[in-house]
Amino acid sequence: MPRYCAVKLCKNRGGTHSKDKKRISFYPFPLQDEDRLQIWVDNMKREDWAPSRHQYLCSEHFTEDCFDLRWGIRYLKHTSVPTIFPHTPGVSRTKTFQSCN
Ligand SMILES: [Zn+2]
Repeated sequence: MPRYCAVKLCKNRGGTHSKDKKRISFYPFPLQDEDRLQIWVDNMKREDWAPSRHQYLCSEHFTEDCFDLRWGIRYLKHTSVPTIFPHTPGVSRTKTFQSCN
């Protein structure tokens, strides 16, 4: 089954490319890290919803400093939380934005 993004308004699917031709990557929810998982879900603003291990967020929802680049592969840092969503114009400046460091 192809990966797709769990964000309702996001149309990204596995194998697609973003507007600037960057390859979209998909990251599983941090199910083993409850505190961070809660921030992910809060930022998504989906109520009464819990992600499963089969759901992913695409790289479009993370700022550049959320990633470590090694050998041409982008890894999501262990402290990163998604902050960019279709219903939040521009980059949000919530306190969670600092969590990428
Ligand atoms: Zn997405």
